[in-house]
Amino acid sequence: MAKPSGFMEYERVLPADREVRTRISDWKEFHGSASTEEEHRNQAARCMDCGTPFCHSGILYEGAVSGCPINNLIPEWNDLVWRGRWKEALERLRLTNNFPEFTGRVCPAPCEGACTMGSMDMPAVAIKHDELSIIDRGWKEGWLQPTPPARRSGKKVAIVGSGPAGLACADQLNQVGHEVTVYERAERPGGLLMFGIPNMKLDKEVVSRRLALMEAEGVHFVSGVEVGTTVPAAELLARHDAVVLAGGASKPRDLPIPGRDAPGVHFALEFLGSSTRRFLSGVPEATISARGKDVVVIGGGDTGTDCVGSSIRQGCRSVTQLEIMGRPPEGRAQDNPWPRWPRILRTDYGQEEAASLYGADPRLFLVTAKSFELDPKKALAGVTIVDVEWVGDDKGRMLSRNLPGTSRTIPAQLVLIAMGFLGPQEALLSSFGVEADGRSNVKAEYGKFATSVKGVFAAGDCRRGQSLVVWAIDEGRKAAREVDRWLMGTTMLP
Ligand SMILES: Cc1cc2nc3c(=O)[nH]c(=O)nc-3n(C[C@H](O)[C@H](O)[C@H](O)COP(=O)(O)OP(=O)(O)OC[C@H]3O[C@@H](n4cnc5c(N)ncnc54)[C@H](O)[C@@H]3O)c2cc1C
Ligand code: SF4
Repeated sequence: MAKPSGFMEYERVLPADREVRTRISDWKEFHGSASTEEEHRNQAARCMDCGTPFCHSGILYEGAVSGCPINNLIPEWNDLVWRGRWKEALERLRLTNNFPEFTGRVCPAPCEGACTMGSMDMPAVAIKHDELSIIDRGWKEGWLQPTPPARRSGKKVAIVGSGPAGLACADQLNQVGHEVTVYERAERPGGLLMFGIPNMKLDKEVVSRRLALMEAEGVHFVSGVEVGTTVPAAELLARHDAVVLAGGASKPRDLPIPGRDAPGVHFALEFLGSSTRRFLSGVPEATISARGKDVVVIGGGDTGTDCVGSSIRQGCRSVTQLEIMGRPPEGRAQDNPWPRWPRILRTDYGQEEAASLYGADPRLFLVTAKSFELDPKKALAGVTIVDVEWVGDDKGRMLSRNLPGTSRTIPAQLVLIAMGFLGPQEALLSSFGVEADGRSNVKAEYGKFATSVKGVFAAGDCRRGQSLVVWAIDEGRKAAREVDRWLMGTTMLP
């Protein structure tokens, strides 16, 4: 255990986020990072190394994860940080996580919801921040140097998609000596780490730095190539001993209401992608711009929040975020006890920024959009919304019902649809002839990751549906293990 009395001596303290008015004027990361050595060690000392560390368990309760999905050895690295043995802490962290610099920035931290402190209503150990401190220190000290495998196996693996699942899979397979090529249809690798999650949440330099390390270790990246179209699936299969599909779940859920074809109604990822491309290329205006506009974001999740934060940085006039579900409680409800994932109201960076600029949280709960309105010049002018309630039907399903007399129109010249994703693009599945499951994802059993086509495996969002970076890393790692076993007959990969 780090320090037996640590949890009683030290409060949970995180570095303050950058001040709202300053951070919205640039695209730099909004999280503050400054902590002294003593502060880092004191935070790590709050970890009690409890007999059963729920934080690293990654157990599913009613479909939601409790604890870290990749089973990070949290109490072990907290102990090492407390003792000032940072390099060893980094080695422990890298045993289970290929990319702590991504999860340390964007993971919603189910580990913290399961921290034993929560059973006593005490603030959780700052696990995510501890993780980030260890990896950022590693990069700063130059401890992450290319370590190519000593020997090559002579086997070739193609990975389709360069998001966290494809990257984790590539990293693992490269480490055991296979020659790995990652194919990416976008102009740069990184998947949603590059063109989905905005820079203020995950600096693109952080992604590029990791890609460069992997390249130096021998992973090949081929960008601007759509497998199944630019490169036929048969060609890829002929040139490699195994193929891993890690193409993500990029088919967006649409909202087919009157006016959907109006100019100015876009899917969230079209907007976020164009925003990051503008940022990376340095051109002054994104293809889809929020500048001077009233923006309505449909969807209250992470993607919606990123649209809010990006619209603000582009200089929107106002922003409203519509959420069809009810407002979650401020604290855990009776039926949502520790160590389950806390289903509570979270005010993320985008909402905090909108509240500071426009005086109120931008979210409207229990509302839905009924139609998009055009002005006489056929330009988008507004969104008509209506309040809803949720009622159970005779099969026990909860259905939303519009409440009469609550319809009103809010001004909008830009609407961003952030209502989730419906699975991978069908073309990828059909080009390989792999079966889909009932939710139109690639059919492959978790743990085995083999698809219906011999030698073709699947990992990440294209297999499990839209999820989290940490789950993509988990799937990429475990799929690598199964690919290695399939290629070599045995495997040492975890
Ligand atoms: C806006 C947004 C914000 C998010 N924020 C968070 C967050 O804060 N925290 C978090 O944990 N998760 C977040 N997520 C979810 C997370 O990004 C995903 O769960 C994760 O990236 C999935 O990883 P993946 O590798 O399976 O797929 P992806 O990251 O989607 O990568 C798949 C890649 O495959 C490529 N591809 C697809 N088809 C082909 C083809 N035929 N040929 C070549 N390449 C192809 C795609 O271009 C893409 O680059 C967010 C998602 C979005 C959309
Ligand atoms: S990856 Fe996520 S769940 Fe795991 S320790 Fe890091 S922040 Fe927690």
